[in-house]
Amino acid sequence: MSYPIESITQCIGARRIGSREAAIDWLLTDSRSLSFPEETLFFALTTKRNTGARYIPELCARGVANFVLSEDDYKKLKEKSSPELNFLVVRDPLKALQKLAELHREKFRIPVIGITGSNGKTIVKEWLHQLLSPDRFIVRSPRSYNSQVGVPLSVWQLGEEAELGIFEAGISEMGEMSALQRMIKPTIGILTNIGGAHQENFFSLQEKCMEKLSLFKNCDVIIYDGDNELISNCVLKSMLGAREIAWSRTDIERPLYISKVTKAEDHTTVAYRYLDMDNSFQIPFVDDASIENALNCLAACLYLMTPAEQITERMARLEPVAMRLEVKEGKNACVLINDSYNSDLVSLDIALDFLVRRSEKKGLKRTLILSDILETGQSTATLYRRVAQLVQSRGIDKLIGVGAEISSCEARFEGLSERYFFPSTEALLASDLLKRLHSEAILLKGSRVFNFDLLSEALELKVHETILEVNLGAMIANLNHYRSMLRRPETKVVCMVKAAAYGAGSYEIAKTLQEHHADYLAVAVADEGSELRKAGITASIIIMNPETTSFKTLFDYKLEPEVYNFHLLDALIKAAEKEGITNFPIHVKLDTGMHRLGFTVDEIPQLVRRLKNQNAVIPRSVFSHFVGSDDSRFDAFTRRQIELFEQGAQELQSAFAHKILRHICNTAGIERFPGAQFDMVRLGIGLYGVNPIDNSIIHNVSTLKTTILQIRDVSGEDTVGYSRMGHLERPSRIAAIPIGYADGLNRRLGRGNAYCLVNGSKAPYVGNICMDVCMIDVTDIDCREGDKAIIFGDDLPITVLSDKLETIPYEVLTSVSARVKRVYYQD
Ligand SMILES: *Cc1c(COP(=O)(O)O)cnc(C)c1O
Repeated sequence: MSYPIESITQCIGARRIGSREAAIDWLLTDSRSLSFPEETLFFALTTKRNTGARYIPELCARGVANFVLSEDDYKKLKEKSSPELNFLVVRDPLKALQKLAELHREKFRIPVIGITGSNGKTIVKEWLHQLLSPDRFIVRSPRSYNSQVGVPLSVWQLGEEAELGIFEAGISEMGEMSALQRMIKPTIGILTNIGGAHQENFFSLQEKCMEKLSLFKNCDVIIYDGDNELISNCVLKSMLGAREIAWSRTDIERPLYISKVTKAEDHTTVAYRYLDMDNSFQIPFVDDASIENALNCLAACLYLMTPAEQITERMARLEPVAMRLEVKEGKNACVLINDSYNSDLVSLDIALDFLVRRSEKKGLKRTLILSDILETGQSTATLYRRVAQLVQSRGIDKLIGVGAEISSCEARFEGLSERYFFPSTEALLASDLLKRLHSEAILLKGSRVFNFDLLSEALELKVHETILEVNLGAMIANLNHYRSMLRRPETKVVCMVKAAAYGAGSYEIAKTLQEHHADYLAVAVADEGSELRKAGITASIIIMNPETTSFKTLFDYKLEPEVYNFHLLDALIKAAEKEGITNFPIHVKLDTGMHRLGFTVDEIPQLVRRLKNQNAVIPRSVFSHFVGSDDSRFDAFTRRQIELFEQGAQELQSAFAHKILRHICNTAGIERFPGAQFDMVRLGIGLYGVNPIDNSIIHNVSTLKTTILQIRDVSGEDTVGYSRMGHLERPSRIAAIPIGYADGLNRRLGRGNAYCLVNGSKAPYVGNICMDVCMIDVTDIDCREGDKAIIFGDDLPITVLSDKLETIPYEVLTSVSARVKRVYYQD
């Protein structure tokens, strides 16, 4: 559906500057996601960290002509305005976006399911789509677009053909739900469950539950777990007046009674009674979360009067929901992006956006392998015209189409220099095309029936079965966790990516941090910095340990060095002068008690004289480092450091007219000494999920996992491994896994000192850990060859290992050796 610009102006109460005619089809909040410039309306949102208005000139250059912006931003961009552009000026662009979504929603008199809760929202949404879509045209939130910005963009997708809407609502603090409620206006509400996520901004779980329930104002029916006391009490208290389908496994009086749940090896059977009828179904899952999600879906299907036989038939075929875009290393220097999420235009657009960002790394061509897109409700001609537009606007170099429909639309893709079409996945595999892919970023996007897993299998580089899986979404959640502790929003953050990002891998981490507007990245040596630059990182980079031999690299790649003594400073100035460089930014380190590197406060007058005497370099910041900010035993010392630092920084600042940024806090300091956050903080270990104060895990980022190679029965009298150190007390099942001390598995964890997890159970290391392999005891664990072993991860925190080794988590994280493949994913 498209809206004339006049009616949008009126609807959001904007002052319109410009008189261009336009019909708006697309709303945009992230300039990187642009696909259809002429029909796009860009909302310049201001967040704590970024101002959307910055991107307006660039968007104009790319053909966007319609913008919603605030009075302040308009003042700054006034000279850019012209009759050929429409500037819609409003008080609050986010509110305007939400208002537009509200009015759009009001055009539809269809059932809309609103889903909220702490876990399972996306899976319930996707499963409902699987269960209900054969009979109706459904519009649903893409992936997990459930925020203040995500919800309006989701609701905007409702079009004339829509028969049912399914939208997620996610909140992280009090008061956020009412705006989401007004946009979604659900008629059917599902509360999946209530847990501790985002708890920091809520007073109590009850408060959080009540806030979530406010989504269901004016719903016809609400669905929830009737056995959950907290939820049941809150529903009672909130007096929503809707019909309730509370399901219960214990209370036969509840509207939906779950009489029996039986788990078999690979499926679960659920028997239920609804409206005095007994029925049952199976799902191909056995975990508790899946069962809970299925019961919520069951209630919604029953309410929508889906016949019991259909529910049974479709439940049995539920598919797991892949929530991630997986990035894998491919053969022939390719990067594989596997999107098995689902196949429709919106998710194609999101995945293409991701592809473009990953391919910016030098020299990678953009290749899309796309199957027929099924069940969109659009005609083949319209659908592939849209696909062709998207593919063109995203600058795809090569298209490989798989399936009869996309092949029949070959002519639409004539604009592409390289294009290939195959009737089936098998035909593509049988050709030699896959072998000829080289130095390409390849996006695999296929409907399920096309079984693109076979392609992924063929293209993936297999070296070593041990991988470090890195959750980029969790890292960003950690970044935001610490940002929320900043007293002033303008305080900048330096993200420490030294030591290959504490073991997680520099490039992907730096890239992701840059996308989330980290103010600075910091690495140890110049070569780490130049590698990032060559890979396309443009963010400001601090070099913590510049070697005197590397100055040229610093200048060539604009890497800002830390300077900690006169010898280094003099050499740097000399080198810069020789190159004719002026005002090169440096970061002055003060020693306030660490006694490692840095100028003492006594040396500052001399430092000032030296700096004033030249213009090759200029102090951009002044900083110092805490000795023991994580430990209250050192608080008096820490405060002394802060005092000394303030004094030194003040002395330096007073000699210069420009602002010199001050920073002293590391991760622990941000939390324990908020008064010392000054202009900038340096976030290290916290980014990677460890709270250094109590060694708790914030959001786990890294998972080190491997695969069982072989399982052997060994008699009780035998020993395992080198030097016969693995003594057995009983006949045992011993598994060998391909990870050893050369991979970073510390040898001192062997001989029963620690364990890994196999299928959720503890498997102790038996005997000495070898160089590339080690053995674990799986006698009491149901497992087989090929099963995964988790060395550390969500359920086995890295701090368990560091405690066992009597060291700090930093050491364990940075010990994972370079030969262990890093695999990245984003939630
Ligand atoms: C490594 C480092 C940090 C980060 O410390 P964390 O404890 O990991 O937060 C901060 N400042 C300097 C100078 C560092 O070298």
